[in-house]
Amino acid sequence: MEQIVEMIQARDPEQYEFHQAVEEVIETVKPVLDRNPEYRQQAVLERITEPERVVMFRVPWMRDNGQVQVNRGFRVEMNSAIGPYKGGLRFHPSVNLGIIKFLAFEQVFKNSLTTLAMGGGKGGSDFDPKGKSDNEVMRFCQSFMSELYRHIGPNTDVPAGDIGVGAREIGYLFGMYKKLKNEFTGVLTGKSLNWGGSLIRPEATGYGVVYFAAEMLATRGETLEGKTCLVSGSGNVAQYTTEKIIELGGRVVTLSDSSGYIYDEQGVDRERLEYVMELKNIRRGRLSDYIDKYPQAVYTPVDPALDYNPLWNHDAACAFPSATQNEINDKDAANMLSNGVYLVSEGANMPSTPEAVDQFIDAKILYGPGKAANAGGVAVSGLEMAQNSMRLAWPREEVDSRLKHIMESIHRTCIDAAGSYGAEGNYLAGANIAGFVKVVNAMLDQGLV
Ligand code: NDP
Repeated sequence: MEQIVEMIQARDPEQYEFHQAVEEVIETVKPVLDRNPEYRQQAVLERITEPERVVMFRVPWMRDNGQVQVNRGFRVEMNSAIGPYKGGLRFHPSVNLGIIKFLAFEQVFKNSLTTLAMGGGKGGSDFDPKGKSDNEVMRFCQSFMSELYRHIGPNTDVPAGDIGVGAREIGYLFGMYKKLKNEFTGVLTGKSLNWGGSLIRPEATGYGVVYFAAEMLATRGETLEGKTCLVSGSGNVAQYTTEKIIELGGRVVTLSDSSGYIYDEQGVDRERLEYVMELKNIRRGRLSDYIDKYPQAVYTPVDPALDYNPLWNHDAACAFPSATQNEINDKDAANMLSNGVYLVSEGANMPSTPEAVDQFIDAKILYGPGKAANAGGVAVSGLEMAQNSMRLAWPREEVDSRLKHIMESIHRTCIDAAGSYGAEGNYLAGANIAGFVKVVNAMLDQGLV
């Protein structure tokens, strides 16, 4: 197994995040391979770590001032053993092939856990929507889709949003797809409600992360009521994580963006959350404005000289990282544990470094890895696809109740899978093992393709 990791590193030495994601899975599925020798003979690890297809393309577009700019577009179609490729698009200047491959790889396991028929994929671009006008974002999305459309389809590959891709971008992307293909189909999820979107989709990832946390707490006879919670990020996932924590009686004291974070001792209540939503989603502003409106809160700008993130250095019981990968390092994890954090439910994908994860697992805290805890978003995307195929729209209560059931089922699956391989209480091992076995068995059923 070490040889496989070495081979992957040698083949694509610069894809660090992908190596990290692969190593984490390989470590935890070793007992599965030991128990099933045919997996090794069938080279399932080599097969599952190699994308079925990678598309990389030029995205030329025009600034408002007439200047032409060129970005790079990606779509990694990782695995279609259990359904059409499914996974979001990320628009952020840090995007490169290694990041998209790590996200696509994680997505395969996550989608498998949802119980729905979805394979894994991910895409995006190094385009930065921040500071761009609506017209610039529209022109970029149209150019991006003018290539992507030939690779996707409602039964082939169904993208959605991720960092930098929200309702506005999905609208422009869908408009261009529809024009080029001359068909109105559920080729993207996260659509607006009046043209094929699902109720609860915007809320789904955040709500699901909190439902998963509630399930983990329930194993110790506890609830979120009265618990202090650290949340990072202030985008889609952070916002609806905060909303659900408030609803379940918890107190959120932090939020962040890439410039800094706020600490609000009084807690981000409904009114303050509404202000954040208006600030981030409509005004597309910076979180630093929060203290103009709520001066009792403290704003701390990012200090690049620090080797830890002060957001994670406050007294709290629960943490919900909801910004980006590797945002919790070993120092942050140590700070969290010494400040009383005993539950981490990951809204972001791979927000904890391997050293941080090791500390959480060694300390036996309730640690819900992203591929299980944040699967609610893609699960409701799956429900959006189902509604689109039937040309029906389910009411809010129905989608929310299905989401809740799916999160309960993912939680149970993780516990059972971990338990059957001697890793009781280890949600990371449980998620990797359960996701892996289902996908690998489907691959073997379908022959060497
Ligand atoms: P958004 O773009 O809505 O929000 C991202 C938030 O994280 C913003 O506050 C952003 O700050 C901050 N952020 C992004 N990159 C960095 C960085 N490099 N350093 C510090 N802060 C950063 O994205 P989402 O809320 O949709 O996604 C957040 C995380 O959740 C990602 O890891 C994503 O992959 C994951 N996720 C999302 C799902 C979804 O349904 N949307 C589903 C499952 C997982 P700023 O405003 O300054 O850019």
